[in-house]
Amino acid sequence: MDFQLTEDQLLVRDMARDFAQGELAPRARKHDAECKIDPEVFAMLSELGLWGLTIEEEYGGAGLGNFELALVLEELNAGCASTGVTVSVHNSLLGAPIKRFGSAEQKAKWLPDLATGETIGCYCLTEPNAGSDAAAIVTTAKRDGDDWVLDGTKVWVTNGGIAKLAIVYARTNPEVSKAKGISAFLVPLDTPGVRIGKAEKKTGIRGSSTTEVIFEGVRLPADALLGGEGKGFSIAMDTLDGGRIGIGAQGIGIGRACLTASIRYAKEREQFGRPIGAFQAIQWKIADMSTRIDAARMLVHNAALLRDSGERCSEAAAKAKLFSSQAANYAADECLQIHGGAGYTDDFEVERLFRDARITEIYEGATDIQRIVIARSLMA
Ligand SMILES: Cc1cc2nc3c(=O)[nH]c(=O)nc-3n(C[C@H](O)[C@H](O)[C@H](O)COP(=O)(O)OP(=O)(O)OC[C@H]3O[C@@H](n4cnc5c(N)ncnc54)[C@H](O)[C@@H]3O)c2cc1C
Repeated sequence: MDFQLTEDQLLVRDMARDFAQGELAPRARKHDAECKIDPEVFAMLSELGLWGLTIEEEYGGAGLGNFELALVLEELNAGCASTGVTVSVHNSLLGAPIKRFGSAEQKAKWLPDLATGETIGCYCLTEPNAGSDAAAIVTTAKRDGDDWVLDGTKVWVTNGGIAKLAIVYARTNPEVSKAKGISAFLVPLDTPGVRIGKAEKKTGIRGSSTTEVIFEGVRLPADALLGGEGKGFSIAMDTLDGGRIGIGAQGIGIGRACLTASIRYAKEREQFGRPIGAFQAIQWKIADMSTRIDAARMLVHNAALLRDSGERCSEAAAKAKLFSSQAANYAADECLQIHGGAGYTDDFEVERLFRDARITEIYEGATDIQRIVIARSLMA
């Protein structure tokens, strides 16, 4: 692994860092309290080209790799995890599968507006009875002449309330085994029969939109099918490899915010006539937090570089997400502990960081599912 960032990578990272610390961090509390991201943040993200980081230049994107995306997502999440996941899902869970599996026509149709942020994207896999067992989905897409007709309910859709385009996974063949009968469709959310359902009231990342998306007799043209009939489940899993690198980067960003807050408070707060940071017990917490965050970054960068090289990265991405999400939660927990009673109030940002960190162990495959992916790969 090359630890030395190139000049261009440093420029991208520093641009994201300046933006996150200057514009996102001061708004993070507001995003959390109002359960939405400032509209002006969306415009700034467009201006900085952060919606289309990995989309090819010919379609208006920055043409960068998953490695640069991970650098940027770490920074955004260190400022505001709600904004971080919004950008991560858009790039990794919608832009990426169109780039990797779309036809020339599909890329030309969708990527330019995804690159500018004119169209925000979302990923509709999970259903009420198909979470970890994603191959158990019951949403159907049935052929009707050249068209498809889509019916079903998706839940927990990040960006559901702000997206214009979704990738929707549906069962097209009930006759074959669970995973093989699934196909992926690109669905504009203004298509008749699409309804945005309940908006979830979440524990953390409250500024990000999470909704149900309901499809009732939604008629789609033949060219809505992405990557061929029956390819949906492998597209969904390939896409999650990239997404997990993004959530790994989110864990590092949140962890870093916890580390910064911990050091600041440990230097300020005095007990027994000394700053609490003078006590070795506090110093050890800070040392462990930082070590885990640095180790998480190496796993995330390793997985991103593998994906950029074109090699299979499922195991590496699962390890990155598993370790980084745990590092984030460890850092959030210790940060709160260092803040004592003050950390248990909303006077300090650790209360939000603690809530934001929790989701990293759940979405895009819960911690146990990452372990299953890793063990399967090792024992295959
Ligand atoms: C805020 C948020 C945003 C989300 N965004 C999206 C999105 O944009 N698109 C989308 O499609 N989905 C999204 N999801 C769904 C998310 O991916 C699922 O919540 C996640 O995959 C877990 O599924 P579940 O909630 O149904 O939990 P369950 O599958 O019911 O799991 C419950 C518990 O059982 C454990 N478990 C399950 N199976 C096993 C097993 N075989 N071995 C050991 N333990 C097991 C799990 O690890 C977990 O701890 C989002 C979820 C949340 C909360």
